Amino acid sequence: MDPAAAESWREILGPQAAELGLLTAFLVLALVSFFRKSVPLKYATMAASVGYLGFVKSRLVSVVDIFGLLSRDLPIFKYNVAWYVLSVFTIASTVLWGRLYCGRICAFGSMTQIMDAVIPEKIRFDVPVALERRAAWIKYGLLGAVIVYFLATRDLLIYRFVEPFWMFSLFGTPVMWAGLGALLLATVFVRNLYCRFLCPVGALLGLISNLTVFKIKRWSECNTCKICEKTCEWGAIRGPLIVKTECVRCDDCERLYLDQQKCPHWIILRRKSEKLFVSS
Ligand code: SF4
Ligand code: SF4
Repeated sequence: MDPAAAESWREILGPQAAELGLLTAFLVLALVSFFRKSVPLKYATMAASVGYLGFVKSRLVSVVDIFGLLSRDLPIFKYNVAWYVLSVFTIASTVLWGRLYCGRICAFGSMTQIMDAVIPEKIRFDVPVALERRAAWIKYGLLGAVIVYFLATRDLLIYRFVEPFWMFSLFGTPVMWAGLGALLLATVFVRNLYCRFLCPVGALLGLISNLTVFKIKRWSECNTCKICEKTCEWGAIRGPLIVKTECVRCDDCERLYLDQQKCPHWIILRRKSEKLFVSS
């Protein structure tokens, strides 16, 4: 290898090394929390996301990135390696497992999920299922509308009206802050309101998640049992089906599948083996 070229890459990557190291450590934490199905590690990941990806770096996948992709105007690789690492990780993880990005990596989604964990259950409003299913389509309409608007006008600034991620850079007009305040107030009563019904990025990742390679396992008992369906806070379980576009791989149902005291699959298996033992 040409030493001059190696030196030049060292010079380019040197200033990005700390950011790349921290981003890699964060993504490893996210994957470990996901594979271990660990609640404390998931909340540690989400807290790190809000603090580091949100307030420190303001690094979230945004409709602006979708606009960049559409207009083939992406950041220069060598000066923006972290942007590419996060973007590639987001798309690859969505293809492999579904909306993992939304479940624990996006700083805004993490913030509202942490809000959800600390706000008392009794003040929640549970959106009726029929309304929830219809409202979930709004985000796809917003994604389509914002793309058409961008292609027609090339106006990047539309992002301010369809996503609140600017809040992490503390940039915003009084009207934008008032809108964000109203959204967060509504989120107190309707959990993950923006992510479930309004986010264009979530909609795009939902569409990509149709390709999911490693799907959530279901038992034959899931055809009749409703425990997981009631547990899912994202409206992503409909009878025996996992609705991939809405599932954010939060682990809640998967922890239940593994719970031999709660999941009917294991309880039925245990009873069958007890009967066999008694009759033999
Ligand atoms: S739906 Fe949007 S705001 Fe919510 S976690 Fe996904 S990308 Fe973030
Ligand atoms: S509970 Fe299961 S189906 Fe629902 S969002 Fe979480 S992982 Fe997906």
